[in-house]
Amino acid sequence: MIRNLSLLWRGRVRSLLQFFCVVLVVCFGLILSSVARAQKTQWQPAHPRSHWHAGHSWGPPWNAPVAHSESFYVGPSKIEVDFGPGQIDLSTRQVMRWVKNAASSVATYYGQFPVLLDRILIVPVPHAAGVLSGTTWGDVGGDPAFTMMRVGQHTTVEDLNRDWMMTHEMVHTAFPTQKDSHHWIEEGLATYIEPVARVQNGLLPAKKIWWDMMRDMPQGYPPPGDKGLDLTHTWGLTYWGGAQFCLLADVSIREETHNRMGLQDALRAIVRAGGTINHNWPIKNALAVGDRATGTHVLEDMYAQMADHAVKVDLPKLWKELGVVRDGEGVRFDAHAPEASIRRAIDAMPKSGRMTPKGFTPGPVRGATVQMVGQPGKA
Ligand SMILES: [Zn+2]
Repeated sequence: MIRNLSLLWRGRVRSLLQFFCVVLVVCFGLILSSVARAQKTQWQPAHPRSHWHAGHSWGPPWNAPVAHSESFYVGPSKIEVDFGPGQIDLSTRQVMRWVKNAASSVATYYGQFPVLLDRILIVPVPHAAGVLSGTTWGDVGGDPAFTMMRVGQHTTVEDLNRDWMMTHEMVHTAFPTQKDSHHWIEEGLATYIEPVARVQNGLLPAKKIWWDMMRDMPQGYPPPGDKGLDLTHTWGLTYWGGAQFCLLADVSIREETHNRMGLQDALRAIVRAGGTINHNWPIKNALAVGDRATGTHVLEDMYAQMADHAVKVDLPKLWKELGVVRDGEGVRFDAHAPEASIRRAIDAMPKSGRMTPKGFTPGPVRGATVQMVGQPGKA
């Protein structure tokens, strides 16, 4: 049961629609602006399957040409970073630091990197700037997880340090692939966990992500005609409705377990049980594994309530209980709020500690952006 949170119900029970299963997790159509977190408000989801078929003789992106490769390990997991041909005004070392920061954040959140092999393809995009888009697939090209990141030629060190997409894409490896109707859980998890994982890994201040959540979460309010998360496929509901589900689940699990466990424990259990992107699981199976780990029914109950009903989460009440207080263009924390300890537990370093590649200390990418001219294949 979900306590202390008001859920307003609208709509009627509808039968579930059947959708064809696709082995894709897509986060494409990420249109960038100067402020990384605000970028999410500008996402225009494109249809992925029309994007990667056209115009390439090599076929799908996992068959695209590779100019050079690097790799590193986080625990037993290998992260292979392939660079497509083309120029980027950054050194390979700088790009690798960006990837290692993201891998470290995700491994710290999950207590391990979710899959044993994650292949990242960096595709330089001529004359563009910034991290342009990321798309992740499970079980393609012989790899359990494959991510294509399109990176503009004139991307700067500051762009890499502002970027959230690399972490978001790696979070996608940590949940079993879902039918299209449940795409919201894949995007909701990535949207909610990416900033939390970066705070836990010391790469973002907590106040920033709670402000971002306060500002951005209302985009997940029920749109007109909303029939619930499984039946309504707007961008806002998919990303931010999904993120609301995750936040609410996190708080509810912590309420029910006297703050001994949270969503993180449920998600770790799903990964440990093999629920990663290279496997297709029915959503109910994944949520049941998560609930068993926390000894609650939060995930299954919330899914039953929100899958085919419009639910408006009372966000202002939630912020108040957690002690997140608007303060100009940011927030301050109210340590005396009834659930301040839950807020602190959500973004605290997990007991399992920081997980990093050997000898690597997470931190900002440093050094000047270098203008490299006429060296195709270098990145
Ligand atoms: Zn995504």
